[in-house]
Amino acid sequence: MPNGGSDNCATCWHNSRHPGQAGYGSFPDARCECLLRGVPIEDPLFTYCPNHPHHDPGKTPFPVGPIYVGEPGPGLTYTRKVIVPSPRTEAVRQGLVGLLEAMPEKPTAEYPSPTRFHDEVILQLGEFKEARAVPGLRRVLAFAPLARAPIQVPEDEAVLGAEPMVDRIGTIGRAMEALAKILGEPAADLLEPYLGSGLEKKGQPLEVYEKLAPLRALAARALALCGDRGKAALQKALQDPVADVSGEARRLLGCWTLAATLTLAVVVGGHAGPGEAPPGISSPALPLAAETTPASPDPRPILALDIPELERLREQGWLGVQAGPARIEMTPAFSDKPGFHLLVREGPFEAAAIAPEELARGAFRKVPSGVLTLRLEPKGMLSVTLEAGGGGPPHRTEIPSRALIGPIYTALPKVVLGIVEYAVVRERGGREGLPPAVTLIRKDGEGAYWLAHHPDTELSKVVWLLAVDGTLYGVRKDGRLLVFLKKPLPPPPS
Ligand code: SF4
Repeated sequence: MPNGGSDNCATCWHNSRHPGQAGYGSFPDARCECLLRGVPIEDPLFTYCPNHPHHDPGKTPFPVGPIYVGEPGPGLTYTRKVIVPSPRTEAVRQGLVGLLEAMPEKPTAEYPSPTRFHDEVILQLGEFKEARAVPGLRRVLAFAPLARAPIQVPEDEAVLGAEPMVDRIGTIGRAMEALAKILGEPAADLLEPYLGSGLEKKGQPLEVYEKLAPLRALAARALALCGDRGKAALQKALQDPVADVSGEARRLLGCWTLAATLTLAVVVGGHAGPGEAPPGISSPALPLAAETTPASPDPRPILALDIPELERLREQGWLGVQAGPARIEMTPAFSDKPGFHLLVREGPFEAAAIAPEELARGAFRKVPSGVLTLRLEPKGMLSVTLEAGGGGPPHRTEIPSRALIGPIYTALPKVVLGIVEYAVVRERGGREGLPPAVTLIRKDGEGAYWLAHHPDTELSKVVWLLAVDGTLYGVRKDGRLLVFLKKPLPPPPS
């Protein structure tokens, strides 16, 4: 089957090549059009939607959700990206509300893919901000999250790595997100109780609390869409006993704007309470209440991040790639040279950093599973070839080099300076050609990443980064704190 799943347009009964007939059919080269949506399909083997018979055996007569195309995600995974949004007609909206009202509490057996039918109905109602869906969505919130159904896979197909059962946690999570989009801040009161799901009994082993951890993480994501009330509620998730949930809350709170940053320094350090100095800092250089002191001198500190915590989070930004039998992890590191150094490790073994010019030529590194050849190819592809010890053909894979930045951008906390959001990346140094430094990464509307690199030698003084609406924003290093500051832009000379 194609890597992205056999629930693709090529096997759909709405495909103009074999109308009414599911399966690959006998005219693989004929023009392909979706008869249900009236759009041409360029790449039917990698195009998907919830109306496919694997998801919608009842043949719903109107489009449900958007059309997706498959594209490589982190590592060797595939993700799905919207290429044709859902039609926004009254008939479609009414039809989706009807599907929501008829949705059973127990999940139905379905092909394992990211495009599950019931979830897509709910997602689309959220996208439409469809107020008529609110009663139905509240009903879904009350579904039993662990009600399960087996996955359904065609006889001639094996789906490696798929869970054998599906539950209702993802469906409830989508209902939470849809309510947050439709109701905004008032949805926080409905969603906050879900941060306590599965935590009712105290003193249990961790695995008890892990059962509903995905539901709590989804509740946290939905609350992050509920304005200040949602974000206030999110503080509770910082204390969650499961690291995935508390980490998600930290990540979500890391997106707060400067208006709320007096708490962020404490949040990133993993401590509670606005205005408290993080423990372990005997004489914090930053008075966290400075923002509210009218007489404080310029430039004024507005936010401090704990550098050891940033270094710990940096470790979560490596990308895993499967090269034959070996799982190789890689991450880019930046210096004042153009391009990036590549760090490579297998398990606890880390090879010497690869400088940009060496990567362009093709670099060899020995790792426990054999010898790796890594090369930055034209068009930004990174090729990874493993020659395992003991002979046999080499294992080669290729990834887009920009995919290396995604995990870093996701793992590191964000600060918003004026209107610009940066991920704050701390490199502790100690590798050849890579002194300790801070890199700020901005992602633009096109998905491109922009980097500003500052070694510690520069950060002993304030480095001014940008000016927004008459205010200058800068950063400096102060002991174990990375301090962001602001001051009014000087008036232009008359
Ligand atoms: S877009 Fe959906 S309904 Fe249309 S052919 Fe593809 S899978 Fe079938």
